[in-house]
Amino acid sequence: MNKRVTVVTGGAGFLGSHLCDKLVKEGFKVICLDNFITGNLKNIRHLLGSNNFRFIEHNVSKYIDIGEPVDYVLHFASPASPVDYMKFPIQTLKVGSLGTHNALGLALKKKAIFMLASTSEVYGDPLVHPQPEDYWGNVNPIGLRGCYDESKRFAEALTMAYHRVHKIDIRIIRIFNTYGPRMRIDDGRVIPNFIYQLLNNQPLTVYGKGKQTRSFCYISDLIEGIYKLMLKPVNEPVNLGNPNEFTVLELAKIMLKLNGTKSKIVFKPLPEDDPRQRQPDIRKAKKIINWKPKVELKEGLLKTVEWFRDNSGSH
Ligand code: UDP
Repeated sequence: MNKRVTVVTGGAGFLGSHLCDKLVKEGFKVICLDNFITGNLKNIRHLLGSNNFRFIEHNVSKYIDIGEPVDYVLHFASPASPVDYMKFPIQTLKVGSLGTHNALGLALKKKAIFMLASTSEVYGDPLVHPQPEDYWGNVNPIGLRGCYDESKRFAEALTMAYHRVHKIDIRIIRIFNTYGPRMRIDDGRVIPNFIYQLLNNQPLTVYGKGKQTRSFCYISDLIEGIYKLMLKPVNEPVNLGNPNEFTVLELAKIMLKLNGTKSKIVFKPLPEDDPRQRQPDIRKAKKIINWKPKVELKEGLLKTVEWFRDNSGSH
């Protein structure tokens, strides 16, 4: 049998590159696309020598041309940290709309299975807690996060339209906060920020009073969930994330304790529209793919700190 061919858009990013690793390991042939707006060649360099991996530098908001048969299109391209998407709001809207259209068009042409990397941000500042997939969300379309939230909501709508009209076999995964090696130390998200601050003996910057909550999933757990879902014909959204919920202040204290440093906490203004609470309801994923996260926060944080210590150098 020929190797199953998978296109991964955003394949040089944090999630995308771990997904490429997993697919190559599982015997797929991977065609990775990235324009390096937030991704980095470093994340995939180790794969470049493999016969089962090909990299094409390409902005998927432009037409995607692949000359060979394709079995899966996994659309992971997009800036994803609030700092990044607020810096690149137009590119973010374009990759969620035009990029999704191009990726769906590729899947249609190749009769491939399509997966959209969606996000917990489709729930906005949620009024239902924890968030199940049938909650429609509470999003400010014109706020600073609107560029990301609405582009992903549009991407979901377009994916469903292609499914209904063209009968494409689709997956929509709503990814909650995920962390681990290969995040950029300067991507502005809370875990890389805290790690940078810990490693440089700086105070941890907690936004607002730190009462807002998040639930953090370690990368290996997430990738396992994505892989299992890719192989299941579930044509509707599924949440993936770790339901273990903490306030940001609790997270800061856990990280200080873990590191045993003298760093302190300083409070900074809360960014606009920062969701007050977030926790995935993962009953659907449990039922469909028998999946739940395994890595404890402490264990995941220690691995991540170690990776940043070895890889980020001075900043
Ligand atoms: N946050 C913080 N200090 C930081 C960076 C982020 O307190 O240095 C807070 C942020 O306001 C948010 C939470 O941590 O409430 C998670 O932020 P992140 O940017 O990681 O992702 P989000 O879940 O908001 O998309």
